[in-house]
Amino acid sequence: MKALIFDGSLQIKEVPDPQPVGREVLIKVLISSVCNTDLEIIQGYMGFTGIPGHEFVGEVVTPGRPLTGRLVVGEINCPCNNCYLCKTGRSTHCPNRSVLGIYQHAGVFADFVVLPEENLHPIPENLDPQSAVFTEPLAAAVEIFDQLRVRPSEKVFIFGAGKLGLLISQVFRLNGCDYQTYDPNLVKVNKALEMGLNALPLSSLTPSDKAEACVDCTGKAIGISTAMAHLYPRGCLVLKTTIAKPENIDLNQIVINEFTIAGSRCGPFKPALNLLSQKLVNPNPMITRIFKFHDIVEAFDYAAKPETIKVLIEH
Ligand SMILES: [Zn+2]
Ligand SMILES: [Zn+2]
Repeated sequence: MKALIFDGSLQIKEVPDPQPVGREVLIKVLISSVCNTDLEIIQGYMGFTGIPGHEFVGEVVTPGRPLTGRLVVGEINCPCNNCYLCKTGRSTHCPNRSVLGIYQHAGVFADFVVLPEENLHPIPENLDPQSAVFTEPLAAAVEIFDQLRVRPSEKVFIFGAGKLGLLISQVFRLNGCDYQTYDPNLVKVNKALEMGLNALPLSSLTPSDKAEACVDCTGKAIGISTAMAHLYPRGCLVLKTTIAKPENIDLNQIVINEFTIAGSRCGPFKPALNLLSQKLVNPNPMITRIFKFHDIVEAFDYAAKPETIKVLIEH
């Protein structure tokens, strides 16, 4: 099969098809999308080499399985189901896990991929694949509400109106709270406004503007300091950014202001699929451009441009 290989540089190569073992099934990838994590991986994040990519819609092609012939999305963590963390409901933190396209598991920027059956969710009939490919990042947005109680009466700032920020903003909008999304890039602010979201340029924020919860999804090292600077004492800081090169932060501010910090990563797929199929979250305006798979190297360059939001790949 054809696959995008990262081994210090990116190129399409001919490689053997993946072979499913145990409860894994073979999935033909139909559509995928480029995530910030993919852009970090090619900067050295996780030391990953091989086939990147973890956001996809595909068709199960292994014969004779319950999901054979169905269009599916897939959870990216492949846990051992046997260790202490797996047995205490924290399988996304299993120390023995592999992670699709991120850690010891070949990803979806290829003709085929394998995943365990239990990772897969068939997409509802009324949901088109171009929207369904947003399930994984939307699940990461929903995760915030699984982790902490954000009261609708609270003021919330979201830093970053990129791929994840626009999804997180839509989920906060549903909760009814007084949220404001900030980005230094006017193209992204205007995109958020076009989507009916509350958005302002970062430059409009004054030092006295504060919120009870600040969400950093800037994808930049500076994001955490910005979010901390605009949080009320005893407020909650939600960190969504993973970066190849971590930044020094002033931990004293956390102690002095008694901040609660929630690191937040992968989330639940079912509610994300519900939001998409009920059209409560609309990801389509976020699609900046769709590339064919043979142009995927160019798609990575395009995805890294500051004004690009989401890049999709047709396989
Ligand atoms: Zn992702
Ligand atoms: Zn485990």
